[in-house]
Amino acid sequence: MKRFDKNGMLIIPTPDEMKAVKEAEELLVVKECYCQNGHNLVSNKVIFNDLPGILLKVTTEANQAGTIALSPVYGQKQRISLDVELINNEKVKIFCPHCDVELPVFANCTSCNSGQFIALYLDDNASFNNCLAVCNTIGCKSLKISTTENILKEIRYLIAK
Ligand SMILES: [Zn+2]
Ligand SMILES: [Zn+2]
Repeated sequence: MKRFDKNGMLIIPTPDEMKAVKEAEELLVVKECYCQNGHNLVSNKVIFNDLPGILLKVTTEANQAGTIALSPVYGQKQRISLDVELINNEKVKIFCPHCDVELPVFANCTSCNSGQFIALYLDDNASFNNCLAVCNTIGCKSLKISTTENILKEIRYLIAK
C-alpha cells in the first residue's frame, strides 16, 4: 500500500472503528508538526486511535493555563482539554509546550468570524506555505491545511485512490 510520507503528513488505512464515522479507506494523518523554533508538537503523551496526538499549551481569556490535545487525523475534530476549562466561543492563545513561544496567526477564521487561524508548521522550515491552521476559538473547530499546490495534488490523488 502506498504511504504519503512527506512534510509531516502521512496517509494510513482507516482503522475499522473509525470507518463507521468516516467512510474513507484512508486518512490523512499529521505525523509531525512544529513550532517556529522547530519543536515537534506531536506527542506520545496523548493517543487517538493508536496515533500520537498534537499537544498544545493554551491560555484562556481568564488567564488559566493548560494543555489541549488535538486528534492528528485531518478532519477528525476531537479535542481534549487536559487541565483547563474550555468555554465555548472563548478565544485561547496557543503556545509551544516545549519552549512556550506563542504560535503565530496565519489568517482570520472565516468560519466563526471572530477567531484566528493559528499556524502549526508541517516541517521545520516555519513557512506558512506548509502548515496546518487551527482556529483559536473554542467550539469553532475550523481547520485547514496550507501547502503547495503540488503537495496538495499528491495528497488528493492518494486520498482519491
Ligand atoms: Zn517550541
Ligand atoms: Zn473559527
